[in-house]
Amino acid sequence: EEGISPKSDTGNVRVVVRVRPQNWTEKQMASENKQIELSDNSVVWNGSPSIQTFTFDSVAGEECNQEDIFEEVGAPIVDNCIAGYNSSCFAYGQTGSGKTYTMQGAKPEECVTVEDDNERGLIPRVIERLFLRMRQEEDRCAKEAATRSFCCQCSYLEIYGETLTDLLQPSESALQIREHPERGVFVENLSQHTVENAAEALRLVDRGSSSRRTAATNMNSASSRSHSVLTCLVQSSHTMEDGSTHKRFSRLHLVDLAGSERQSSAGTMGKALKEASDINTSLSALGKVIMSLGQMAEGDVPHIPYRDSKLTFLLQESLGGNAKTAVIATVSASSTCAGETLSTLHFAQGVK
Ligand code: ADP
Ligand code: MG
Repeated sequence: EEGISPKSDTGNVRVVVRVRPQNWTEKQMASENKQIELSDNSVVWNGSPSIQTFTFDSVAGEECNQEDIFEEVGAPIVDNCIAGYNSSCFAYGQTGSGKTYTMQGAKPEECVTVEDDNERGLIPRVIERLFLRMRQEEDRCAKEAATRSFCCQCSYLEIYGETLTDLLQPSESALQIREHPERGVFVENLSQHTVENAAEALRLVDRGSSSRRTAATNMNSASSRSHSVLTCLVQSSHTMEDGSTHKRFSRLHLVDLAGSERQSSAGTMGKALKEASDINTSLSALGKVIMSLGQMAEGDVPHIPYRDSKLTFLLQESLGGNAKTAVIATVSASSTCAGETLSTLHFAQGVK
């Protein structure tokens, strides 16, 4: 079985393109899907207007499974978090390209068995690894006559347009982002849940995700137009042999972005048009922020436009500095998605 080929270390921003397999309908249409050709770390676009090659940290073809994606993207951000640094991982792409599949896993009805472990996405795998690594670190320190203890708090919110809702306490909507001289940027009234183990964290995530789905059904598939942000705040308290104690906080964000598709303005009226432009604002703000981070790594000192959207404003402390950022750009190889695929490749290349 072929995994994702390993790539050289490319600094704090990693960009991976994931191509989802064609579904049944796409296969029936049987048009040849030769628009894109994949290699280890590049995608060649053979469609119009011209042949182009896009290069990334890695390219995950249809043969790559959830475990491969976790090893490539998930495991490194857990290690980074245990080392005391912030990390975030974003799934970017058009609706239907596999963002939620990548972040959460297959939908329950698509699993062969009720608990189809192989189909689990990044969120459950990251959470499990996180707790495993915290316990390992505690044990390792105990052997060295120091004590280290970890504590993990989760929060889960949705950004719809520019409105923030607490997915773990859905009555809390229209939350405000505040800045505090010591606390930094935080969301006022967002519920924080201390979790003792992975199972407890995963139950919380399931609850939040299902409240997102319910809201989406009621609001006519709003989930494709909202971003969800799951945050694990990890606190480490390390008491050394000399009795001194060091406390450290790190945040790990797992973000399922709104669909990147351009909404056609014909027939898009009023609220829908406003939504479309809000989505494009935050996705392009995110693109600009990540791109500026790349330029900074090359020695430039660009202005980083964190304030251009709620999403980037909220995550600013986890974008830049020692923080690690991973973008998984999901695309479909189907020719019917060609236009959106090209635009996703441009975005993903741009942030690199
Ligand atoms: P998005 O969240 O981007 O709108 P989904 O994650 O819901 O898209 O994916 C759309 C459909 O395609 C779902 O039925 C999902 O299970 C399936 N799918 C997406 N990516 C893959 C993949 N890599 N392998 C198998 N099925 C996939
Ligand atoms: Mg989705």
